Amino acid sequence: MKITWLGHSAFLIEGKDRVLVDPYLTGNPKASTTADKVGCDIICVTHGHGDHLGDTVEIARRNGATVVAILEMSNFLERTGVRSVGFNLGGTAKIRNTEITMVPAFHSSSIGAPGLEFSAAMPVGLIISSGKVVYHAGDTCVFGDMRLIGDMYKPDVALLPIGGFFTMDPKQAAMATKLIRPKIVVPMHYGTWPPIEVDPKEFERLVKKSSPKTKTVLLKPGESMEV
Ligand code: ZN
Repeated sequence: MKITWLGHSAFLIEGKDRVLVDPYLTGNPKASTTADKVGCDIICVTHGHGDHLGDTVEIARRNGATVVAILEMSNFLERTGVRSVGFNLGGTAKIRNTEITMVPAFHSSSIGAPGLEFSAAMPVGLIISSGKVVYHAGDTCVFGDMRLIGDMYKPDVALLPIGGFFTMDPKQAAMATKLIRPKIVVPMHYGTWPPIEVDPKEFERLVKKSSPKTKTVLLKPGESMEV
């Protein structure tokens, strides 16, 4: 499996299928590609905020990709003409050769349009099984049931926000890593704007101390890793 960080929380996960997560590219100062270039079969969206929903509709239309989102957001996306599978926490959808399970994330979720902002149901984390198992935590604080996520899904890779302010900071994310026990952890959702400017090396140091069996991989936007 090849995992490419496209900046912020956007990843392209190429296992049995090409799965794009939280494709915020347009307007993302750290994006490594543009919405008209990225190719994918499936798009997973963790929640409605603009820096996660991003270019989902445009990319789904161009690629004929299936979108995965929590039910209420999925219903909204279907009205834009994209094919979307909506389900809920604890549920698993099999799309092509990939299984996607929704797990909790503690955050908020809304969809904003000019002069209008409405609730987009709950934010979620995602377990993406497409050869290897990847846990994309979405935006969240640390919570004790991350241990359960580790027990049940045994992620090969955890993608965790570390930027603080809107999500976990490096210290909380290191605690999350200890609870999840992935083989590899990759930090995300940092360095995009000043409020979430943190040093990923601090996260790496903390993980080394508290989870010596987990390897931290620091990617730069546009960089890939093989798992
Ligand atoms: Zn958010």
